[in-house]
Amino acid sequence: MSRRPAFPAQLDLRTGAPIAPKSIANSVQQTRATGQKSVNLAPSGLGMDSSAVRARMVSKLAAQGVSDPQVLAAMGSVERHRFVDSALVNQAYEDTSLPIGLGQTISKPNVVARMCELLVGGARGPGGKLGRVLEVGTGCGYQAAVLGLLATEVYSIERLRGLHERARDNLRPFRVPNIHLLFGDGMAGFAKGAPYAGIIAAAGGDAVPQAWIDQLAVGGRIVAPMVTAQGKQALVVLEKTSAGLKQSVLEAVHFVPLKSGIA
Ligand code: SAH
Repeated sequence: MSRRPAFPAQLDLRTGAPIAPKSIANSVQQTRATGQKSVNLAPSGLGMDSSAVRARMVSKLAAQGVSDPQVLAAMGSVERHRFVDSALVNQAYEDTSLPIGLGQTISKPNVVARMCELLVGGARGPGGKLGRVLEVGTGCGYQAAVLGLLATEVYSIERLRGLHERARDNLRPFRVPNIHLLFGDGMAGFAKGAPYAGIIAAAGGDAVPQAWIDQLAVGGRIVAPMVTAQGKQALVVLEKTSAGLKQSVLEAVHFVPLKSGIA
């Protein structure tokens, strides 16, 4: 597991209003400065301000049953189009999963919102935020950015170096002092950040690793896709109470597999 990286650029996602220049045009300059692929402005259809298209996405999420105001606000704040490849910018706010490279996918907004809602549904600390959260499977960093608005600290771990670095590039233009990106095998959790108020996995295994349960605070929740006895993947919520673990198996989902080791 690597060191806890710092973000030279400070980015405040808390209010959803990045301190960095708001317009896509400006963001293009910023991403170019970091050597990342530029956002393709011409065919994007997003115009110079993507907030309206995000507001439409949030209305759809609410119509689909997402009700937590903080989750909806976070989904409305984070500029999803900045996390996908330039060729896919047009689809960034559609309710669809998208490829993010190395055979992995960014979950559809509905699934991100649903999982975040389940995660915060348990304990909220002072200020209405979750405490420390561990995300297993950083991918492009989008969900980490959403979680950054909902939790005091986010530790997000990725086993593929290419994606860990991509997430770092994606997040750099913002100021997110409370997101810590880690490169390593998330099956072992991240003991240094424990205990966590919540653990969320973006990849599904056959079982929830014991390390996650050990690193979860009493009163906390794990939200993860898991292969059930029927051989299908479902969303599982594990609650750690003083009386023991409570498991709920929810709807069917389709996540990439949770794999061990790094690559
Ligand atoms: N939350 C991400 C979705 C990423 S897809 C986003 O917003 O983009 C799931 C990710 O989990 C993949 O990048 C995959 O490489 C990663 N993954 C799978 N097994 C893992 C493990 N054991 N530890 C860390 N990351 C893992």
